Amino acid sequence: MKRDTHLVVLLLLVIGCSLVSLTIWKVLGSRERALDDVNVHGLNLTQALATYSEGIVRQSSLLLLGLVERLETEGSGPAQIERLNALVNRQQPLMPQLSGITIYDHQGRWLMSSNRPIPAGVNSSDRVYFIHHRDDPSREPFIGPPIRSRSNQEWVITVSRRFNDARGEFAGVVAVTLGVENFLRLFGKLDVGQEGAIGLSFTDGTLLVRYPFREQDMGRNFSQSPIYAKYLVDRSVGTASFTSSLDGVERLYAFRKSDRLPLITTVALGKREALAAWRMEALLSAVVVTGLLGITGIIGWFLILDIRRRTKAEERLRGVQQQLLSSNHQLELLTMKDALTGLANRRCFDKSLAMEARRAQRDGTTLALLMIDIDYFKLFNDSFGHVAGDACLQTVGRILQECVRRPSDLVARYGGEEIGVIMPDTDSDGAAVVAQLILDRLTLENISHHCSPFGRLSVSIGIAAATGPQLDQLQKLVEVADQALYNAKALGRNQFVRRDQEMRHDA
Ligand code: GH3
Ligand code: MG
Ligand code: MG
Repeated sequence: MKRDTHLVVLLLLVIGCSLVSLTIWKVLGSRERALDDVNVHGLNLTQALATYSEGIVRQSSLLLLGLVERLETEGSGPAQIERLNALVNRQQPLMPQLSGITIYDHQGRWLMSSNRPIPAGVNSSDRVYFIHHRDDPSREPFIGPPIRSRSNQEWVITVSRRFNDARGEFAGVVAVTLGVENFLRLFGKLDVGQEGAIGLSFTDGTLLVRYPFREQDMGRNFSQSPIYAKYLVDRSVGTASFTSSLDGVERLYAFRKSDRLPLITTVALGKREALAAWRMEALLSAVVVTGLLGITGIIGWFLILDIRRRTKAEERLRGVQQQLLSSNHQLELLTMKDALTGLANRRCFDKSLAMEARRAQRDGTTLALLMIDIDYFKLFNDSFGHVAGDACLQTVGRILQECVRRPSDLVARYGGEEIGVIMPDTDSDGAAVVAQLILDRLTLENISHHCSPFGRLSVSIGIAAATGPQLDQLQKLVEVADQALYNAKALGRNQFVRRDQEMRHDA
């Protein structure tokens, strides 16, 4: 029962553990896949945005190259500027990302501004791009940090080139202004969720554009952020996951450094948001698995209850069976016992005699039989009454039982006041010793019987012994013992007679 219950518990544990570990494995796997998908998605976006940004900067610097060429060959007099203005006004609609083109002289004064009139008295000699070109003879284009436009207060990024005069001295700057608004419009069309962000910055960490737009972030330096401090140190493309120091939101970042320009594009998605679908799926799996585990547990519990119930019933049945067996045994003993004396009865005598005869034949031993009859017992009854006679019979039974000492010997009430003693593996001499012992004990007991010539209770004993084939006819053995008993009576009682000679002869 214990083993069955343990097996059920073990089975339930195996099912439960397998189910739980399989689910955990599946859920963790799908989380990994969800994060991978987000990373791939982010990297693809950075690729597209980087290409877009590079394209705008390259187009701008190409346009600038043409303008610088003309300014240097034709000069920057009012007529030339007028012509350039007309040219720019024709070109500008082809580049919608462009907010405007401005030409400054060597002192930072505005010579030309596309699309709009030059504001009175403005000077841009303090602008980073102007100072850069004035102090650096390089002819390369320069991408400036985001600034507020002096003409319309919009946030813009500048791409600029320097132009020289005929002597090769610094003559001024041509700058293209790119409205941050244009970038934001495109970035805003991309779905990066509530917690996502898209950023374009310099390799030194200066932020150019960030979506969603935050005024306070414009031109800020993020070189201490993990992307710059840790990941971009040895890689130009990759993904990372960390908590933003700005708003404490954990995000999955994809970043890409431009091959040719000092620009970095980052796309970030809120991790919690990115894993929302996965979390829902995991929750659903957990609910289903918990339900399954519950059902399995309930079925198992019922199974265990059933096993316990059945085992209890079996135990009860076994108990009843045991009781029945012992009752049967008692009954069998009762059917083998004589009620008055407690000795074996006639039925038991017959069975034992047959069994011992077969055993003696098998073992080649001698089987002896004593037939004992109380002398003058009728007279005992007559003078003392039947109740005393019964008590006397009981006493004689006990005495005989005491005289027969071997466990294999059997004392049985043969009928009336006649008692038989079966003595296996005993010859006539051995039986005679026991017979004598009985006569001596009765003498010693000296049970009063005044109607007997001996004045006390006595018995007569007939002895027969047989071996081998003599035992084929058991009835004969009993008859010979009876005959010997008869002889003992005839010879005057209170003695034994052996008739083994005749047995041998008859056989
Ligand atoms: P003998 O010496 O020749 O044996 O004389 P006896 O009187 O004993 O003669 P017998 O053996 O024929 O007598 C049997 C008597 O034993 C008859 C009966 O009164 C008595 N008897 C037999 N069975 C019982 C018994 O169960 N209880 C009592 N009280 N007496 C019994
Ligand atoms: Mg008799
Ligand atoms: Mg008698």
